[in-house]
Amino acid sequence: MSLETHELRKAFGGVTALDGATVSFHEGKVNALIGPNGSGKTTYFNCVTGMIRPDSGRVTYRGRDLTGKAPHRIARAGLGRTFQLCRTFPRMTALENVLAAVPQGGLRSAKAKGDIERAMSWLTRLGIEHLAESEARDMSWGQQKLLELAGVLMAEPETVLLDEPAGGVNPALLDRIGALIRELNAEGRTFVIVEHNMDLVMSISDHIVVFDRGRPIAEGPPSVIRSDERVLGAYLGV
Ligand code: ADP
Ligand code: MG
Repeated sequence: MSLETHELRKAFGGVTALDGATVSFHEGKVNALIGPNGSGKTTYFNCVTGMIRPDSGRVTYRGRDLTGKAPHRIARAGLGRTFQLCRTFPRMTALENVLAAVPQGGLRSAKAKGDIERAMSWLTRLGIEHLAESEARDMSWGQQKLLELAGVLMAEPETVLLDEPAGGVNPALLDRIGALIRELNAEGRTFVIVEHNMDLVMSISDHIVVFDRGRPIAEGPPSVIRSDERVLGAYLGV
């Protein structure tokens, strides 16, 4: 097991976002976390990555307790993430955005450490190297999502959490994102993906966890999840 949570709880005022979420994600696999809107998926990522502190419960990564640790410590432990509403610096170029994702001391030291070459190679890998000198605000939504992912990959995380990588992305780019996730996984990276596009989830995931009202109601491979009655119930209200 890679990332695990035990009885994770988080409430916002009277709203229970996480209601005792005990979940295990598999090392070396593409894991998906799915569930209706408001079922707690983003809150779960926020708790796991230290953006918000859970009211109670435990987060462990490779057996290490990370509960309540600061985001940079969690990142250093090997967990990287993207955000549902893409985070890029609009007035910085694509290259500057990727470089900004690693702790460093300005352009000169980035040069010294070979960060620029590494950043360029991630931009190339993600198919947006021709935009290296473009400002992020001039890039399409899908390109900005790839840019954010390039920044996350710059830190060489072992495990990558993606919050709706296909949200608002056009169909051509969608295929590329799916293929890319499989490729990066084949190189040894673990993924946990929150995603609403079921075709994408079913085609790239090894293991799926389904949330409803802040806790898992089902888990298993795509073949099992596809026909699970609780899952259909949570989504379709039947
Ligand atoms: P999902 O990502 O599955 O759509 P969220 O984790 O964003 O779900 O939200 C779960 C619940 O918690 C929702 O009812 C949402 O309105 C609420 N919630 C999330 N973040 C906050 C917040 N910062 N303040 C108040 N309520 C929140
Ligand atoms: Mg969300």
